[in-house]
Amino acid sequence: MRKIRKKITVQGQVQGIGFRPFVYTLAAELNLTGFVYNYTQGVIIEIQGQKTSVEKFIVQLKNAHKEKPLLKITALDFTDIELVSGEKTFEIKQSESDGIVSAEVTADIATCKDCFAEMFDKNDFRYHYPFINCTNCGPRYSIIKSIPYDRPNTTMSVFSMCGKCSRQYENAEDRRFHAQPVACPVCGPKIKLCDNKGKEIETDSDKVISETVRLLREGKIVAIKGLGGFHLACDAENEQAVKTLRSRKMRDAKPFAMMAADIEKIRQFAVVDKKAEEILRSIEAPIVLLPKKEPNTIAPSAAEGVNTFGFMLPYTPLHHLIFSEGKLNALIMTSGNISDEPLICKDDEALEKLGSIAEAFLMHDRVIYRQVDDSIIHIIKNEPVLLRRSRGFVPQAFVSKSSAWADIFAVGADLKNTFCFVKKNRYIVSEHIGDMADASVYKHWLNSIGHLKKLLEAEPFIIACDMHPGYLSSQYARKLKKDRLIEVQHHWAHIASVLAEHNRDEKVIGLVADGTGYGTDGTIWGCECLIASLDDFQRFGHLSYYPLAGGDSAATEAIRPVIGLMKKYELSIPGSILDEIEPDREKRIAAAEQIEKNINTIKTSSLGRLFDAVSALCGLGSRNNFEAQLPMALEAIADKRTTECYPFELKNEKGTAMVEIGDMLKAIAADRIGKVDKTVISAKFHNTVAAFFLSLAKRARDKTGINTAAISGGVFCNRFLSGRLIELLQNDGFEVLFNRYVPANDGGISLGQAAIAAKITGKG
Ligand code: ZN
Ligand code: ZN
Ligand code: FE
Repeated sequence: MRKIRKKITVQGQVQGIGFRPFVYTLAAELNLTGFVYNYTQGVIIEIQGQKTSVEKFIVQLKNAHKEKPLLKITALDFTDIELVSGEKTFEIKQSESDGIVSAEVTADIATCKDCFAEMFDKNDFRYHYPFINCTNCGPRYSIIKSIPYDRPNTTMSVFSMCGKCSRQYENAEDRRFHAQPVACPVCGPKIKLCDNKGKEIETDSDKVISETVRLLREGKIVAIKGLGGFHLACDAENEQAVKTLRSRKMRDAKPFAMMAADIEKIRQFAVVDKKAEEILRSIEAPIVLLPKKEPNTIAPSAAEGVNTFGFMLPYTPLHHLIFSEGKLNALIMTSGNISDEPLICKDDEALEKLGSIAEAFLMHDRVIYRQVDDSIIHIIKNEPVLLRRSRGFVPQAFVSKSSAWADIFAVGADLKNTFCFVKKNRYIVSEHIGDMADASVYKHWLNSIGHLKKLLEAEPFIIACDMHPGYLSSQYARKLKKDRLIEVQHHWAHIASVLAEHNRDEKVIGLVADGTGYGTDGTIWGCECLIASLDDFQRFGHLSYYPLAGGDSAATEAIRPVIGLMKKYELSIPGSILDEIEPDREKRIAAAEQIEKNINTIKTSSLGRLFDAVSALCGLGSRNNFEAQLPMALEAIADKRTTECYPFELKNEKGTAMVEIGDMLKAIAADRIGKVDKTVISAKFHNTVAAFFLSLAKRARDKTGINTAAISGGVFCNRFLSGRLIELLQNDGFEVLFNRYVPANDGGISLGQAAIAAKITGKG
């Protein structure tokens, strides 16, 4: 038989996930010699042996993702090279490093099926062990302090491996070969149950679990330390417990996330289609927003005013153990924090801040170094779309096709902040940070920047930020003394985020549906049609400006956009409807006068505020107690069968396409007076917004010949609106790009800023 030798280059997400041991095992099975090592772009293999064996090796390599769920091969090239004589073994070689380290740090991953099986195998030495893990699963990003990703650089460094564990760790044929967090009941972290003063109630592992379950069954609130931080948990079917949690956490009406024992349990409460099941069961194990089933036994106050439940499956061994007793169907698992503060991950801080919320604390001695929230996904047009990108996804890099290099830091936006580092052609977007208005979030933001910068060994000399004069993130960026500061218009960044994640570098028609963003003319934009590329953008059209009596309350009190729109379009709305929105007539008059005299009044094309106004006109409330509460309520009631629209006009004003909605608002008021069903009004309104975006896109296409539309902006987190618009655009022959891997809301801004900065400095 003829011997051959091949050099194989594998690119993609191939490092830090046990790929080299996999290659080693494969080579050993096939009696092949050679070596494997990590290089900057992935993994290089040289393999030598019988021709048929080498060919088999390549076939199995191509199918490796079936056994290595974290593996994503994007390119696999092989060439014949000269035989090496005297080679006897296959080796894992030391990595070649030239400063691109991001590839080595992977995301935190849900318990794999092998570990799950071992955990419930009475004969396994890790039976019922709450920290079982292997190279295919377990904590990563949340425990790593610095690179390289080796145990001494993680929070596992304080636990020294016992003989059994180290034998597995050192055996290249074992599933736990170089699994840095490997541990067992003898040598690893342990759980304990404490009261809200930190006094130990129980330390025996199994009893800790059964006592926790007992407390939860009794309607108590338990703080549970997880993978990326604490959760506040209570029985999701116990209304009294959920209500108590809500009031103690000072959280008005924002829906709670839940964890259910298994898919079958989730199906009792919500509609789980094939796609949803796939995402729920994925290694990232995010929260998935699912249509509610009615009636259901979930406590009513768990998720009011929305038509979805956010469910996830157990993703750590500890979660599996809690549900394995079979006594709980579903738990509220909301972030362990007070109102909008950062997620808590330290034991002492948890006791101090959550001591008045939770009756008991299920804790452990594995330190969480980075707090990582649960990621949230919803499904649009059968595509998973991230609404919050954190656990399971961070710090996976977006790899740009461009071979140019850059070292960039993009600070992101002030709401739903994420930031982004660019190293060469890799874009690493941080975990979800939160809203900067809270001082503790700002502090957390600064710490997180420091951590990720160190982890990635990033030394950026180009900084990108929003052009908003008042954003804290921008103010911070302006103070950094770097070679170049690039201030990016907010909605351009939204569109650029779509281009970046799709790896596209061309001119597109950008449709933006957003709350607020600072415009180049000093007004507040929010409903825009841009002709945009990564180099540049022009504003092709927008929603006609309306006045908004300003201040911070403009985004909470729906009466403000209502009065502004009434002024602009000279609408008369019956007092009875206005009374519903703002019973205090004086306040209404004051807001109107404020606009008249142009005091603290802004001009805006905000679509978010228009949604607030229409929700209020439909009688769905008058305040956003949390962001987008009113628009979410409006979306929830929309009658999906209604296809009609309200009238609108698309004018041309000095070359800018201008959407006028006076006729629509008049018709909405008339429908309301005529007692037309709110579900129909809502649907017609959504359809109208989709229709005017389509008109804008068509006019832009006529003018420019561009046939690709990119849609982004926080209002597109509205599934009904995005779904309709995507359909309309596609039916009209447009290619439609929308955010999937970064959120359409401001969580995606940092990626967009970074991509623009890379392009215009000639480095992307
Ligand atoms: Zn595992
Ligand atoms: Zn051990
Ligand atoms: Fe935005």
